[in-house]
Amino acid sequence: MVPENEPVAACLGVLDEIIRASSDVTALADLVTPGFDIAGLEWLHSDPATLQSVSWVENQLVIAFKYSSTDYPFRCTFASDELGRWRLTSFEYGCPACFGDGLLNDSTCSICNGTGYDAN
Ligand SMILES: [Zn+2]
Repeated sequence: MVPENEPVAACLGVLDEIIRASSDVTALADLVTPGFDIAGLEWLHSDPATLQSVSWVENQLVIAFKYSSTDYPFRCTFASDELGRWRLTSFEYGCPACFGDGLLNDSTCSICNGTGYDAN
């Protein structure tokens, strides 16, 4: 991935560290916010990925990206802790019907109710 700026680069680095930590719960605990549900993190992998969007929501950095091997995007939200370290606060995978758009044929996607993410 090509980072757009320093916070984005730092957050993408956190994702890389999460991938390296794999199922090491102790290592993962330092990379996510307290109470984070690590289920789903196995979807992260080290394939080449491209950024889809970067935005800020209430001091949290929201990064959507897509792996070259899948059609649907992933969306990760990061928060900076008191020491300035970025931690993952949420991990969502894109809706397999609308691929993160929230729309199907110009109507609200009925699979994800228009959110574009976390359909199941
Ligand atoms: Zn959808």
